[in-house]
Amino acid sequence: MSEVRLTLEEVRDTAMRGLTKSGISEENAAVIADVMTTAEQDGCKSHGLFRMPGYCSSSRSGRIDGKVTPTLHDDAPGVIRVDGHHGFTAPAMAAGRPVLAEKARSQGIAAMPIMNACHFAALWYDVDALAEDGLVAFAFVNSRSFVAHTGGIRKLYGTNPMAFGWPRPGKPPMIFDQASSASARGEIQIHLRDGHDIPEGWAIDPEGNPTTDPEAGLAGAQLPFGGHKGAAIAMMVELLAVGLTGCKFGFESAQDENTDGGPSEGGELLIAMDPARFGGTGESGAALAHAELLFNEILQEEGTRLPSDRRYAARKVTPTEGITIPKSLYDTILGYCED
Ligand code: NDP
Repeated sequence: MSEVRLTLEEVRDTAMRGLTKSGISEENAAVIADVMTTAEQDGCKSHGLFRMPGYCSSSRSGRIDGKVTPTLHDDAPGVIRVDGHHGFTAPAMAAGRPVLAEKARSQGIAAMPIMNACHFAALWYDVDALAEDGLVAFAFVNSRSFVAHTGGIRKLYGTNPMAFGWPRPGKPPMIFDQASSASARGEIQIHLRDGHDIPEGWAIDPEGNPTTDPEAGLAGAQLPFGGHKGAAIAMMVELLAVGLTGCKFGFESAQDENTDGGPSEGGELLIAMDPARFGGTGESGAALAHAELLFNEILQEEGTRLPSDRRYAARKVTPTEGITIPKSLYDTILGYCED
């Protein structure tokens, strides 16, 4: 497969050009370009420039409004709600996050429901800035239904990731970010694009048979990770991100027309906690220092690493070496950079 090498600056510039030429405002495009550039920087291919065609085509089709300005609603001392007004989630997130952080510091804990917005990013990005800022953070987001409940064969849940960030003194935060499906949908699409089989346990075909064929898996249903335990987490994410925000469940948004490859509309919930307000230590520095004992204990064993270490390793390399994308994807993106 022929590839193109780009610097991170070129990734950002190309993203900005394609997004703005596709009708997304400069302000919103800057936030979305940062999401994709940071994903490329951290070696998360399925949420880097791979997502450009979906962002651009869903804005060009008029299904998602790339020009909207999100609005903030101070619903309760511990709740800041963001209405994304049927735009992309990233600008809604950027608008609400500083208020969420401020509320978490003054209240000890605060939540930010995001409604009427279309999420297309890796979820770790959403907790990263909060955890870098010394807050413990959770994020839950739903997506269009692709995943069957255990025992069923119907696409019912989104791939519904959750992310958790824990600040670390003098180090980047520990963050895990995982879909409640056995794999992210983008991973199956990448296997299809590259002509590879998918591992067993990722998907069933439309008749409910286990499959390693990515095309049959995309046509059928994805499976939750860990059987009924993953299905319960997918259900919880759906309830937190949608039930609490009054948006659409994955199976409801699946009924909407969405043939442009972009994200469907749904909800997201963020929760931020100030470690200084919890536990016996009384100050966040002591609580976070104590947590390092656990990380050290984990890492003492050969073969272990912390979630997010892979990303941080990539982050050390990509600013100098750049990143690569398939030439076919690059050519498609250049098409979106035209009028
Ligand atoms: P992975 O299974 O690749 O990784 C899940 C987590 O496990 C990551 O935090 C990863 O850290 C960590 N991890 C992996 N291997 C190890 C290991 N050996 N030791 C310790 N930790 C490890 O992610 P998924 O396939 O579940 O999801 C991929 C992405 O897709 C996510 O970013 C998710 O947010 C996104 N997604 C987005 C959706 C949307 O609607 N916006 C829908 C569904 C998924 P590390 O990164 O360091 O490897």
